[in-house]
Amino acid sequence: MPRATIKSKQTRSAARSGSSAAAAIGSSPSSQAPSAPSYPNTGLYAELHLHLGGAILPNILYHHMQRDQHALLKRFPTFDRFERFFTRRRTDLADYLKMHKLVESLQRPAEEHLFYYVTRLVRGAYLFDNLAYMELRHTPYNRTDPDLDQPRRIDQMRSIVELIAAAAMSQTRYPLVLRQILCMHTELPFEVNQAIVRLAAAPELRNFICAVDLAGPNHLYRSRIDQWVRLFRLARSLGLRTTAHLYETETGCEPKLLPYLDRIGHGVQIPLRHRKLLASVARRGQCLELCPTTYLRTGTLKDYTDLRDVFKACDDAGVDVSICTDNAGLHNMRLPAEMENLLVRDVINVDQLARYLKASFKHAFAWSGPMPEPLRRLTLPS
Ligand SMILES: [Zn+2]
Repeated sequence: MPRATIKSKQTRSAARSGSSAAAAIGSSPSSQAPSAPSYPNTGLYAELHLHLGGAILPNILYHHMQRDQHALLKRFPTFDRFERFFTRRRTDLADYLKMHKLVESLQRPAEEHLFYYVTRLVRGAYLFDNLAYMELRHTPYNRTDPDLDQPRRIDQMRSIVELIAAAAMSQTRYPLVLRQILCMHTELPFEVNQAIVRLAAAPELRNFICAVDLAGPNHLYRSRIDQWVRLFRLARSLGLRTTAHLYETETGCEPKLLPYLDRIGHGVQIPLRHRKLLASVARRGQCLELCPTTYLRTGTLKDYTDLRDVFKACDDAGVDVSICTDNAGLHNMRLPAEMENLLVRDVINVDQLARYLKASFKHAFAWSGPMPEPLRRLTLPS
């Protein structure tokens, strides 16, 4: 789809959502990017691992489906049934990823739906999650028009990034810092993943994209390992920061990728089953992005309290940890509630929590300002 078409539809979409910044969306966000990001002094949390496909709360998705009389209402005639689909425990990661596929279908076509969802995400993150900073990850190719051929879909990826950036920038009442992480995907061909890396490195998008990631079913890691190494080398040569869904499940443990990462998406299997790697992870200064609810949903852990040893092993080895939600919407679990669950079950104490919150800002790819005041106070000696 030509970019001009996307822009005109974006503006209509903004008008429908009541955005006061519709005028700011009419031209490319690249041309309006602030030369240096400003850092809000409010908010307590930095969310480093959040998927666009899983960030939107079920009630917001369902409300939008009803407004559009979406065909999925036949499958989910009531909100209860829709919510049950998202909150039930999954048998494994592959089953869990089915939720992403369904939400991605709800977010297409992007110019009709994605803009709206991102505005609601930013509003909720600022007002209800107390976020100062968010890294939002997605595979832009999976949000392009599936009826187009591969080269045209690759061309369209830039519009997806710009649309998300424009939606976030339109929410001027909620001044959190939002950056995108572009995910390569294990089910996509090499050429598409290479195009995702090159797009992430485009100089004109540097104020919107902060890193690349690798996501998708873990069983496709090993058979294509040389490609993943090549792509992460390319990313690094282009000056990109890197993270990857790695050591999330027992089939996703690929030590060959570890040297190319700034952070590790999950990495929970390292303290669980590969503890000898903790020393090298600490030496490289890599931070684990731990997402407690995910491990309960995918069957990796049986209970929250199983995480007590995971955190302790990381602390003992000097490995930084950031607590994240992965899919706050699909889990129906906001980041502050995730933290509270860990505290009230004595999985971690307040000093650990303060340390992990600090680590989130330290390892954030696009935060170079001071810690927000609420967090600075929390980390003062009592
Ligand atoms: Zn994830």
